Amino acid sequence: MLEIKDNIKTVREEIEQNPNTGEKNIRLVAVSKGQNYSAIKAAFDAGQSIFGENYVQEALEKKEFLNSLDIEWHFIGPIQSNKCKLISEHFSWVQTVDRIKIANKLNQNRDTKNPLNICIQINISDEASKSGINVSEVFDFAELVHNLKSLNLRGIMAIPSKESERKTLLSQYKTMREIYEKLKIKYNSIDTLSMGMSNDYLLAIQNGSNLVRIGTKIFGKRKIQ
Ligand SMILES: *Cc1c(COP(=O)(O)O)cnc(C)c1O
Repeated sequence: MLEIKDNIKTVREEIEQNPNTGEKNIRLVAVSKGQNYSAIKAAFDAGQSIFGENYVQEALEKKEFLNSLDIEWHFIGPIQSNKCKLISEHFSWVQTVDRIKIANKLNQNRDTKNPLNICIQINISDEASKSGINVSEVFDFAELVHNLKSLNLRGIMAIPSKESERKTLLSQYKTMREIYEKLKIKYNSIDTLSMGMSNDYLLAIQNGSNLVRIGTKIFGKRKIQ
């Protein structure tokens, strides 16, 4: 557990010292899928208050167990439409919205007074098997999400393919950043470019990311499932 504290400190220092792109506020989401309660508690005690989860059931158990802690929960996994109600009710953010059916269902189950923060997931590596909306469809989709009153469109996220070479990664970051800048001009609510995981977060920040999602580098290898 001491290790978790040290890892968070290291990651935070690296983020702060990283020559970034002028972004003042780079957010760190600790990805706690596959980690137990005490690992999350240890991270929380080390000052970490934003956590990301991929599986609804797993997340809800943790959330209930840890409900005394003031945690901002982000859903970052694939979304099944029959889980939208639970996701809307229990999360502050959903970073993996890529279908209008899902956006509508999330919207229906939320109150306009407390809108759900949304990132559109983009299929940046354009692989058929991957989730995320194609680059060519992002702007139309953003307009639809923007018009849903119980959703607050905050930005975009992507998971670059693992095997990507540096050159490919850089070009994917660049595309993401261009989309982000265009959306920002169009919608006041846009402030989030979510890219970067344990293996690439510094490079992602150097290329404009202002929200990184880090699991392994904080918690070590995933323990459950
Ligand atoms: C698991 C996961 C992460 C964290 O990955 P690490 O390599 O462990 O840092 C980040 N983002 C998403 C969407 C994930 O599913």
